[in-house]
Amino acid sequence: MDPIIKVSNLSFQYDDEDASKILDDISFQCEKGEYVSLIGKNGSGKSTIAKLIDGLLAPQTGTIKINDIGLSSHENDREMRKSIGLVFQNPDDQFVGATVASDVAFGLENRAVPREIMKSKVEVALKKVGMWDFRNEMPSSLSGGQKQRVAIAGAIVLDPQILILDEATSMLDPLATKQIHEVVNKLNQKQNMTILSITHDINVTAKSDRILALNDSKIIFDGKPSVFFQKHELIANMDLELPFSEKLRQKFIDTGYDISDQYMDDEEISQWIS
Ligand code: ADP
Repeated sequence: MDPIIKVSNLSFQYDDEDASKILDDISFQCEKGEYVSLIGKNGSGKSTIAKLIDGLLAPQTGTIKINDIGLSSHENDREMRKSIGLVFQNPDDQFVGATVASDVAFGLENRAVPREIMKSKVEVALKKVGMWDFRNEMPSSLSGGQKQRVAIAGAIVLDPQILILDEATSMLDPLATKQIHEVVNKLNQKQNMTILSITHDINVTAKSDRILALNDSKIIFDGKPSVFFQKHELIANMDLELPFSEKLRQKFIDTGYDISDQYMDDEEISQWIS
């Protein structure tokens, strides 16, 4: 089966002729239903990749294919963008409606979806993110986590096959972050939605199927989280710290207690040591 996202030999630099390459000949792919984390330092080009995949920017060289369709003409761009939902870092930048429901309906209105269908789609999307009870509230009155759940509803109401989260939890507290991850995990597992989650926080990558690590304009790692967490030098070179669970595991291994045969994430380790 063809991958849902296929990026081949992609290079990109912003307009300035003197600008250095943000992305230099990178290639990767995401399979349908995969949950992929894209990690890298601030300024390493993660958001640029999201914008390229969404067709908001065009690569100088290389190709991006969604469902085997290339970003070559405006017609294709529009078709491709329908398959992609994007949620950004700052929840306040994403609202256009006076109420939660009208905000989520916005994308459907743009596509002239009939009113009755629109109402039921908005209801389904808001229920999926646990925000149906807030449908008549003003978006500005919500907490940061609630705003991000509404932003996710606004993206999934258009039935995308791919959801790209660009640092979507980086402004949220731990509880709101956990709730967003639960919503996203459900979309991934129950609906087989492909997730590309962009982050500079290594702790939130543990539950993904695969990690792509971006450093110095290149993809320097593409594989399972449990393998990535063993690459201590590479992680240090990216100015990242090992996740808590990995530090703990390391401590046990150093003291002769071998738990390395089974991967546990932070939550499981907390339960295990309590
Ligand atoms: P990340 O998402 O990893 O923090 P970005 O993709 O936002 O990184 O940015 C990568 C680099 O490109 C940074 O050095 C940033 O300053 C630069 N950059 C981002 N947007 C623009 C732009 N519109 N014009 C010029 N340079 C930009």
